[in-house]
Amino acid sequence: MKRVYNFAAGPSALPIEVLKKASDEMLSYGDAGMSVMEMSHRSASFKNILQEAKSLYKELMNVPDNYEILFLQGGASTQFSMIPLNLLSKSNKCDFMITGSWAKKAYQEAKRYGEAKVIASSEDKTFTYIPKVDSKDFTLDADFFHICVNNTIYGTRFKPDGLPETGNVPLIGDMSSNILSEVYDVSKFGLIYAGAQKNMGPAGVTAVIIRKDLIGHAKDFTPIMLNYKTHVDSDSCYNTPPCYSIYVCKLVYEWVKANGGVKGMEAINKEKSQKLYNFIDNSKLFKGTVVPEDRSLMNVPFITGSDELDALFVKESKKSGMENLKGHRSVGGMRASIYNAMPMAGIDTLIDFMKKFETENA
Ligand SMILES: *Cc1c(COP(=O)(O)O)cnc(C)c1O
Repeated sequence: MKRVYNFAAGPSALPIEVLKKASDEMLSYGDAGMSVMEMSHRSASFKNILQEAKSLYKELMNVPDNYEILFLQGGASTQFSMIPLNLLSKSNKCDFMITGSWAKKAYQEAKRYGEAKVIASSEDKTFTYIPKVDSKDFTLDADFFHICVNNTIYGTRFKPDGLPETGNVPLIGDMSSNILSEVYDVSKFGLIYAGAQKNMGPAGVTAVIIRKDLIGHAKDFTPIMLNYKTHVDSDSCYNTPPCYSIYVCKLVYEWVKANGGVKGMEAINKEKSQKLYNFIDNSKLFKGTVVPEDRSLMNVPFITGSDELDALFVKESKKSGMENLKGHRSVGGMRASIYNAMPMAGIDTLIDFMKKFETENA
């Protein structure tokens, strides 16, 4: 069977061990005699899967006890609405840093419900850097401060030690594309959310880590399905949860744990991304698009400077067993998304191909 190196930004590659385990358990999960897809979400088997997923995620992320973990639907995009609906409960004000398209979408949605302020934006330079901010400019009584921790499209990130200092204002982090990739201190956040389909599992589930004091203050008109309290009170089973996606996330958590936890992932991710960035920095043909100090470990955009060569690169790389290297339509060029499931051999294959392409085309 042929497997390619899949550099897609999302949905993206899953660890081969996870796919094999899912395949082994497809016809019968344990002795249940049925697949997880066919199971009642009220069954003992599924309850176990959900509790294991939750406790593994809690362990991997080192989530303190004063937080709840939820597995929700509607993708990360639904969080753009849930966060303002649930958290704009006192001053009705919130702060945003606009570091890419996702951050901007979150801001635009929050503006519909409250007074949303842009503290800083890097749109002036097509989001190629993380703006420096001064906490003097933050809204003192804001109900929350939102950042997109890793910018999937543009390839920048807030480093774990470079988060804005928001004091008592809850910091909200969209970690859809860098969850479980590097150690972040959950206690610095009021809420962390991540759509699973980048670095955590299949599409269809969004994991939310929310501090308990932020639950239960939703606006009166909040739809019941968009109220965090609904899902906390029913342990993510108010209605049918995305059972199979949660199950595959559980398998991914087991895989991450068996491979050194988030710390282990971080070490290998730094090695993988450094190798690729080093090659790009020393290349005569390829150029990175982002300032070095804010580079993502997960999404690596690069260009040749020629649209024709970029197109040729994408076309030829397919023939060498690499898929989805075409850059996002708003940036152009190429983007290699190198999530946890991308092995070092995939990076080596890409670099070897880039070397060859450079020799032939520079
Ligand atoms: C992909 C992505 C989203 C949107 O996720 P959906 O699950 O498709 O709604 C939001 N934020 C970031 C950082 C993303 O990478």
